[in-house]
Amino acid sequence: MTYQSLSPFDGKLIKGFDDINASEYEAKLAAAQTCYESWRHTSYADRAVIIAKAAKLLHEQADVFARIMTQEMGKRIGEARGEVEFSSRILAYYAKNAERFLAPVKLHPTVGEAHMESSPIGVIFGVEPWNFPYYQLARIAGPHLMAGNTLVVKHAGIVPQCALAFEKLLLDAGAPVGLYTNLFISHEQSDKVVDDPRIKGVCLTGSVAAGRSIAARAGKNLKVSSMELGGSDAFIVLEDADLDLTIPWAVWGRMYNTGQTCCAAKRFIVVDKVADAFLERFQAALTALKAGDPLDEKTTLGPLSSEAALVQLLKQVDLAVAKGARLVMGGKRIDRPGSYMQPSILTDIKPDNPAFRDEFFGPVALFFRVKDEAAAIALANDSDFGLGGSVWTRDVARGQQVASKVETGMMFINNIDWSDAELPFGGIKDSGYGRELGDMGIQQFVNKKLVRTATMHAPA
Ligand code: NAP
Repeated sequence: MTYQSLSPFDGKLIKGFDDINASEYEAKLAAAQTCYESWRHTSYADRAVIIAKAAKLLHEQADVFARIMTQEMGKRIGEARGEVEFSSRILAYYAKNAERFLAPVKLHPTVGEAHMESSPIGVIFGVEPWNFPYYQLARIAGPHLMAGNTLVVKHAGIVPQCALAFEKLLLDAGAPVGLYTNLFISHEQSDKVVDDPRIKGVCLTGSVAAGRSIAARAGKNLKVSSMELGGSDAFIVLEDADLDLTIPWAVWGRMYNTGQTCCAAKRFIVVDKVADAFLERFQAALTALKAGDPLDEKTTLGPLSSEAALVQLLKQVDLAVAKGARLVMGGKRIDRPGSYMQPSILTDIKPDNPAFRDEFFGPVALFFRVKDEAAAIALANDSDFGLGGSVWTRDVARGQQVASKVETGMMFINNIDWSDAELPFGGIKDSGYGRELGDMGIQQFVNKKLVRTATMHAPA
């Protein structure tokens, strides 16, 4: 069974769901295609009524949605509620702004008149991860549905109840059947969906391995795709950083969602002059976190999303240490029921250590001491990933110059406010290609058609 709700807090099975069979598959794809034929001609205003209603319902039922998430994948309840509210804002934003983003754009040719028109392209297939069970769905549903496409979505195997809750949300908001369809499918069935001629585009958020597999399949079918993959973001602390500001962000950046965020701060690159002070205060702040029930508002350290995720992370830490890294703190599972890991810091990580290049998807910080700004930039760029990163300095102009030199899709100066409904999100290198959200995100699965009109003349 691919889809199972298993509580990472106590390991109990909440509910399991069967994959869909061949006739269910056919009915769902056919409904998505049929819906597209009418949805593409539905006005922006009429589309917006449904998407805005979904936003409103999500806001009104934030606690219900948040609890499902917390029980299935362990996100602490306050963070879960925040994610639900943000997902609601994303839907509301695209309901309001999609038409503006997709309005015809006038061009200025040497002869005649020309403009670009935007039109939807068809049914889009989304493959989504468990770490943001609603935000990831809102991030594709808001823009792509408002653009006039329809969606079929494979969510991650460990969050089936979130997947169903989001599908129901849209139906409750008045969406026609086929506008947004959840698919409980295996990886093999997913390949079949990518091959299906009714599918016109594919977007995936997930690991590099999943990205390679789905992107290759999409490429073979000449289908447009966007890939939002992993990251190992640098958190660059310069000698003039305000540590009172930097330390809380360092903790948040590494520990939000128990460290399971693509663009989490993962590599802490600190200039020698402040390295000892930073490390001491960072360690003290991490030590203060207390493991507990993620449904309890007072808990400051939640479980990892699954036992498998914990086992994988422990193995990565053991290997890093076997290859010469040193544990400053943590490195073990917490002695209590559930899939909990100690907040951990690894240092002395040499370039030949697998930890130097790998993504650590959990509460493990990699600490690097460097001599100066130039060395920090060089180390930040010595990565297969290129998702995001941050710079910490009292000199904002200097921070912006450093940001320009780091090779990633996103950089943040004295903050890591990763995502906003109107800002593009995505990376380069092994972190993928394409963008979600913002003007770039909504254009991803849209036909940009040139229309040129010229006065009648015979070809030269
Ligand atoms: P994952 O194992 O790649 O899973 C992501 C999704 O892809 C799930 O729905 C999964 O389904 C599916 N999947 C995996 N392999 C597949 C295949 N061969 N064919 C079809 N579907 C496949 O990733 P994860 O462990 O859930 O998520 C963590 C990763 O996502 C991290 O690397 C993180 O950095 C990245 N991420 C990136 C972003 C971003 O915006 N850049 C955002 C969040 C997360 P199953 O669950 O059924 O295997």
